[in-house]
Amino acid sequence: MDIEIITSINKRLERKVIGMQTKYADIIVDISHENLDKTYQYAIPEELLERAVIGALVLIPFGKGNRLIKGYIVSITEKPNWKVELIKPINQIVDDALVIESQLIHLAYWIKETFGSTMNDALKTVIPVKKTVKSVEKKSLRLAITKDMANEYLETFKKRNNRGRVRLLEELVLQDVLDYEIVINKLNISRSTIQDLEKMGIVTTEVERMYRNPLSSDLKQKEKVQLTIEQQTVVDSITKEYESGIRNTYLIHGVTGSGKTEVYLEIIDAVINDGKQVIMLIPEIALTYQTVMRFYRRFGNRISIMNSRLSQGERFDQYERAKNGDIDIMIGPRSALFTPFDNLGLIIIDEEHEGSYKSENPPKYHAREVAIKRAELSNASVVLGSATPSLESYRKALTGSYRLYQLPSRIGAGQMPKIWVEDLREELKKRNKSIFSARLKELIADRLQKKQQIMLFINRRGYAGFVSCRSCGHVMKCPHCDISLTAHYNGSLVCHYCGHEEFTPSKCPSCGSKYIAAFGTGTQKVEEFARKEFPGARILRMDTDTTKNKDGHEKILSAFANQEADILVGTQMIVKGHDFPMVTLVGILAADLSLYAADYRAAERTYQLLAQAAGRAGRGDLAGEVVIQTYQPEHYSITTASKNDYVGFYHQEMNYREMLKYPPAAHILAILVASKDDKKAIFASELISGATKEWLKLEQIEAETTVIGPAAANLAKANDIYRYMIYVKQSEYDYLIRLKDYLEGYINYSEHMNGCNIQFDFNPMNSY
Ligand code: ADP
Ligand code: ZN
Ligand code: ZN
Repeated sequence: MDIEIITSINKRLERKVIGMQTKYADIIVDISHENLDKTYQYAIPEELLERAVIGALVLIPFGKGNRLIKGYIVSITEKPNWKVELIKPINQIVDDALVIESQLIHLAYWIKETFGSTMNDALKTVIPVKKTVKSVEKKSLRLAITKDMANEYLETFKKRNNRGRVRLLEELVLQDVLDYEIVINKLNISRSTIQDLEKMGIVTTEVERMYRNPLSSDLKQKEKVQLTIEQQTVVDSITKEYESGIRNTYLIHGVTGSGKTEVYLEIIDAVINDGKQVIMLIPEIALTYQTVMRFYRRFGNRISIMNSRLSQGERFDQYERAKNGDIDIMIGPRSALFTPFDNLGLIIIDEEHEGSYKSENPPKYHAREVAIKRAELSNASVVLGSATPSLESYRKALTGSYRLYQLPSRIGAGQMPKIWVEDLREELKKRNKSIFSARLKELIADRLQKKQQIMLFINRRGYAGFVSCRSCGHVMKCPHCDISLTAHYNGSLVCHYCGHEEFTPSKCPSCGSKYIAAFGTGTQKVEEFARKEFPGARILRMDTDTTKNKDGHEKILSAFANQEADILVGTQMIVKGHDFPMVTLVGILAADLSLYAADYRAAERTYQLLAQAAGRAGRGDLAGEVVIQTYQPEHYSITTASKNDYVGFYHQEMNYREMLKYPPAAHILAILVASKDDKKAIFASELISGATKEWLKLEQIEAETTVIGPAAANLAKANDIYRYMIYVKQSEYDYLIRLKDYLEGYINYSEHMNGCNIQFDFNPMNSY
């Protein structure tokens, strides 16, 4: 290891600390502009030093005439970018109160510091960038006839089996006005259906009314339910604290169907009645029509829904409406967190354990942490909710940094389902070669006969329908990526990572044997088996292949909801947040596949998937049953899930994490070193690992810190780029931040890093 390099970097760092030099601020002047990275440097006069924080709104003399304009400080440095004599001083700091822009810039700075990214990447995440926007018309649909007439039409359409018309009319009878886009995208009504109804004079289309005409208040009242005592206790406790000015982070641990969403609605109501605004995060996959409508019915047009399909311009429009005070509630995935509400009172994160709350691109931030920071900056509370909380959150709730509430039972008659665990090894002993255990087969037949619905769920994480040779074991892999190819129906092999496609060979390329075939069970295989086993059954399949088209996903779900099929086969996609009252049986075909994923969160994911899947059964008045098929019936994630014993799972899993120093018992910094040149990547990752160890020695924390690697990543090669990993485990997050800062300096300094892409990820959610 190059000791010289390290000492010279340390010298540079020291110099920074010692001299009390003039400080300079980099300032952006147009924060909604495409050039967020365009900054201007100004000197900070001594008397302003204290107030010149990142995010501060300042006045600066600009251009030749030194006209005073507004700007925001985005970074502070002691290194002038150009001749000191030419740098003008900041004129004044406008306001100490953090305006929303200042708050968001400050948040960006915190993200940069906490998750390790450039300020520019952080700013781009946090600040909506205005692109030349074609203004979008907001259209809405309105019922043009009386409700009685509409009900008569409904009867006729029902008789004729016009499902689209029925769905639209039913909704309009409830609501009078509907957002056009929601009707098309979430309700899955075709434009031609709408045109037909327009021609018949049943509905009218209106432009730009949706956001100006809030729904009538009596309609909102109608949707209120009488909360149960358990629900009311949670609502009262949180709103009472809120009203007395206390801000906190709350975790609601409630089984699926325990009425968490109803609790959110009540708390939101209290907060917006107080004149404050609310951000509600829901994973995109759970943002179904049913969910969206519950919010619309309750809050009308005071809400706006964000999704990842929105163009940047549309998103900017939404942000503008939020800033202008046209809406009070923003609902959406991760990015909704940055809605520029300047009077934010509450952030809710539903399904807080979801992996999608962690960004996969720099800055690799976790929405939960950022939400708590944003809440702190704007004096808001945070409510987290889940049936299967992340270990991180549950631990904080147990140790008192979050406040914990439990909703242990389902609402009303809904019973928790009966859960069977079927040992697949035993099935094999009994010469059952089918993918269905005897119990599952029997129960499927029973439900088909009773005309109830069935969901068959295959856990595909960490697993692919790969093709291997039965003679020599050769596995067909992508030539560009280090992962196995997946067999498809059309006979080709596909790389799900880069899209590479090739024909399935008839002979093994390694030994020439003709016994080369797809191994294991994908969703297509399950569908095929089910068709053979239950010839009369109507089967729908939902996976990445059948949902490629826009809203393919919603179409399949609404067909299933309309009982156009008896069995729905799918991957994890089908287990999220859908309410199918006629589903009384859920089969989980290979529950333990996710246990083989090379990832310390494998058991946690398995528990979550099983609990979520089980949560689909028996949501209506009919009791449900769940069959878990597994090769490891004794594994604690399966035994606890089958008893719906989250707390039991938590303690066992926490023991494991404590023992191996995995989060949340400690923190991990993952360092990815990637390069087209394998040798360069190896060398660079060895240097970085060496620098890490030197630094740990200097800090005298090498004994309590574990450095793993460098080693090839799980995905050792992707798109012809070689990938190596270093993992550093430490119980103090701050040490890892400082290590990262140090390594960044080192990386900038060393020429051996050229041609390598190096990324940092704190407490990664996904394996590399
Ligand atoms: P979760 O979000 O915990 O899955 P939901 O809030 O979606 O639970 O509630 C499950 C079902 O029970 C929904 O259909 C909801 O409308 C209904 N529900 C919730 N609370 C009540 C209540 N107090 N009275 C009657 N029905 C309720
Ligand atoms: Zn072979
Ligand atoms: Zn590939």
